[in-house]
Amino acid sequence: MHFAGLKAIGEAVTIPLAYYDANVAGTLQLIQAMNAADVRRLVFSSSATIYGNPDYLPLDENHPTRAINPYGRTKLMVEEMLADIAAADPTWRIAILRYFNPVGAHESGLIGDNPNGAPNNLMPYISHVAAGLLPELAVFGDDYPTPDGTGVRDYIHVVDLASGHLAALEAITAGALPISTWNLGTGIGYSVLDMVRTFSEVNNVAVPYRIAKRRLGDVASYYASPDKARDELGWSASRNLADMCSSVWRFERLMRQRNA
Ligand code: UDP
Repeated sequence: MHFAGLKAIGEAVTIPLAYYDANVAGTLQLIQAMNAADVRRLVFSSSATIYGNPDYLPLDENHPTRAINPYGRTKLMVEEMLADIAAADPTWRIAILRYFNPVGAHESGLIGDNPNGAPNNLMPYISHVAAGLLPELAVFGDDYPTPDGTGVRDYIHVVDLASGHLAALEAITAGALPISTWNLGTGIGYSVLDMVRTFSEVNNVAVPYRIAKRRLGDVASYYASPDKARDELGWSASRNLADMCSSVWRFERLMRQRNA
């Protein structure tokens, strides 16, 4: 399972070379090493970002791919590279997993996301604000064509995401196809304000926010069709938004206690 890589869209715009090096050249090196070791079974972490601006929703695996930033291009390049490799040598068993918005922490509160500096992503930002490390959340736009005007995304609990990988590994091991692609998402879209409200209610903690300008490059709504994964892997996400929010807060508090 190949998880190594750089993953911040904004950073990729400023240091693209580091992204092409880590994500594309890094995967190339891995494939060469695997070939040399006669290991040809791979689960690759791709991203839903490669669908670009949606032509339709929910996004299924047949939606056209068109990366619109350097990060997305690195993921798409690797997907294309893997497709070529699988076509040339059908003994490969490759799973491409297109992640939607992974959030949450392990139920133990011991494993979670602790980004360096101010977080870019919504969930760790909310958690930092709730912990008093940041004064308020800037909600990037409230004039999108969505139910409450704020951006809608498909948030998936990391533990569900992890079980999706195990299901994919089993499927490619048993299956006959050299390469397969699956979305990993819940199929449910939540708005930024849904996230703030649920985090606040579930954890009984204040999350001050203000409405700010739209963030460049953001789309209004983005969510998966998880049907292919359900039908072919027998997998679907089982944790809801409350589970995602409570696990993040448990991790955040335990981490602060440990570091105090
Ligand atoms: N967002 C926000 N404030 C923040 C970070 C994110 O309002 O400080 C919004 C963002 O505009 C998007 C959603 O939250 O609608 C998810 O953003 P994130 O960066 O977590 O993931 P993305 O979908 O952009 O990969």
